[in-house]
Amino acid sequence: MKKVRSICQDCHCQCGVIVHKNDDGIVEVKGDPDHPENEGFICIKGRTSPKFATHPDRVKHPLKKIKDKSEEKWEKISWNEALDDISKKLTRVKKQYGIKSIAFEHGTGTRPSMIATSLLANALGTPNVVSTDLHICYAPSLIAEDLTYGQSIMMEKGPDYENSDCIMVWGANPLIAHPTKGNEIIKAIRKGGKLIVVDPRETQLASKADLWLQVRPGTDDALALGMINYIVEEELYDDKFVEKWCYGFNKLKERAREFPPAKVEKITWIPEDEIKEAAEEYAKAQSAVLNHRVAIEHNINSVQTDRALAILIALTGNVDKKGGNIFTELPEGYISLADLLGENRKFRLDEDVEKDRIGAEKFPLASGPKAPLPFVNAILLINAMDKGYPYPIKATICSGGNPVVNCQNTKKVINALKKLDLFVVIDFFLTPTAEMADYVLPAATWLERERHADAPYMNFISTAKRVKNPPSECWDDIKISIELAKKIPWANREYLPWDDVEEYNKWRIKEMDLTFEELKEKGYLTVPRKYEKYKTDGFDTPTGKIELSSTILKKYGYDPLPNFKEPPESPESTPELTKEYPYILITGGRYIEYYHSMGRQIDELRKRVPDPEVEIHPETAEELDIERGEWVGIETPRIENKKVKMKAKLTSIIHPKVIHARHAWWLPEAPGPEHGVLDHNINLIISDDSPRDQIVGSVPDRGTLCKVYKL
Ligand code: SF4
Repeated sequence: MKKVRSICQDCHCQCGVIVHKNDDGIVEVKGDPDHPENEGFICIKGRTSPKFATHPDRVKHPLKKIKDKSEEKWEKISWNEALDDISKKLTRVKKQYGIKSIAFEHGTGTRPSMIATSLLANALGTPNVVSTDLHICYAPSLIAEDLTYGQSIMMEKGPDYENSDCIMVWGANPLIAHPTKGNEIIKAIRKGGKLIVVDPRETQLASKADLWLQVRPGTDDALALGMINYIVEEELYDDKFVEKWCYGFNKLKERAREFPPAKVEKITWIPEDEIKEAAEEYAKAQSAVLNHRVAIEHNINSVQTDRALAILIALTGNVDKKGGNIFTELPEGYISLADLLGENRKFRLDEDVEKDRIGAEKFPLASGPKAPLPFVNAILLINAMDKGYPYPIKATICSGGNPVVNCQNTKKVINALKKLDLFVVIDFFLTPTAEMADYVLPAATWLERERHADAPYMNFISTAKRVKNPPSECWDDIKISIELAKKIPWANREYLPWDDVEEYNKWRIKEMDLTFEELKEKGYLTVPRKYEKYKTDGFDTPTGKIELSSTILKKYGYDPLPNFKEPPESPESTPELTKEYPYILITGGRYIEYYHSMGRQIDELRKRVPDPEVEIHPETAEELDIERGEWVGIETPRIENKKVKMKAKLTSIIHPKVIHARHAWWLPEAPGPEHGVLDHNINLIISDDSPRDQIVGSVPDRGTLCKVYKL
């Protein structure tokens, strides 16, 4: 039996693993007890990754869609033919519509598709790199924390859980969505740390909390402002820290006065006493951390909600201190994702070209040349494909994204994709998105690639070894970008200068004191935590301080202070509509079994979670005459004449007025090309329309109205 140390990439945790293999193939994948991220932990996705990699339905060759009069079918072609064809078609689109009409789209987590698509887009000269979901995942936090601190402070490695006396987790369920962090939190509370959880559902973590605040979906901004109010009015804030390091305290104090806890109780449904107790626990703790995730970004006020949370950290002086939220660092000399794609990226197009990025004018802090991680909002891309606004998108290469499943307003996405002259998808399986492509290119899984494993919010890098060769002709995404650039005569190879993946991997550590081979042997490299770095480095904001009142937001014409926005449809804002649609819909709670739309082919996972589920409180189910396990219909007011069918899961972890529908469902076994998306995917009834968040364009995936009924 041979053992290979590697890094699982079936979600963004990047756990160290030891893969046991013999001559017949992989026998077992175990957690690596020595790896700093997971210390031996492994989840079921990681354990079943060999089944994913060897699944018979996996795409193993480049495919070309042949369109006869009556039918469409897939034909296997060589890489050479695929890349030649794609190169010629991109050239034609460029000549006819201009380079901006070519876009690249990437998904999240499991492959280097974000880097691969961005570098190839640069080489071709188009500014249009689209993320399927950044507008509702990560970008709002990144922008908010960048505006406030000049860098990120709340993402996974930011909170110093192990040394903390109080942990406040807001809109996140790390035991399921980021289990390595969830495990750290459990260890910390066993040592005596207090746990406060803010969530509309009594999640696994909430059930272990000292205090669980069951917030009304979409009102986290009001809750944070209520806590700021109480901390300021009761003088629980760290006055010395605020005076020395923060800008705009008096303005913030004025704004927070509008949110006394009694008023916030009415907005959020959380009793006033609980709001005060949470604020007091958090502010009075010797050290406290605050961690949030995407739930608070799924509304129309995501950046300001994130800002309010970021401000709580500053007010209580829990900045970059032991047991607080710290600024993470990667090893010196390492060329990180941020160095490749962030504000000071190594490769960038002329500013005039970047100004022409779709959305640069509408969302300058998300899509403009100076954005911390510029990207095109997927909703605006779909509009450009569909309506040609602000200009037409005619060709798209989509790598690791699955927009038909994961973008809001599924029908519109499908119609828009049909209007493309060229659609290329790089993926593992024929997903509902891949089914719409002209070409499908087969991607390699983490077991089949050699790579650097990092994330901008980690304090270590790892090197993942290849465990097995890819089946047939599956390629690393970086290799696909390099080889396609070689085929396109007008591609500027300065943006993609490597000859192969090996050269690229070596380049990323060329300024470090070790070789890729040495790093591979070492496995990982950690940067020891350093505290209070701001005392020498300051804060990278215009005032050099933590900006409670943001000078940048003011300059761009936005409200410089965090504020509250009632969701556009809610019992408060649309009481008449609420009579017909009486429940608040939330989506997107994670399963440990699936990473977004992945894994539905794997029997072992599917046995555990076979069907799309909607969580309904038992009292609500009784009123609606809905039985456990029964198929129900869900409708929302903004997408007319469409319903999603899900199986009722009755559970009292949810408020009787709130319904939680699982996201990213498609059924590989159902007939293509849609594979059940038009029946079971919640995005079918989530609107992409305005109002959206003013700064980043997020939409209310959580906190819109719905009705539910027996089918
Ligand atoms: S949490 Fe699971 S899927 Fe994610 S990296 Fe770790 S083992 Fe892999």
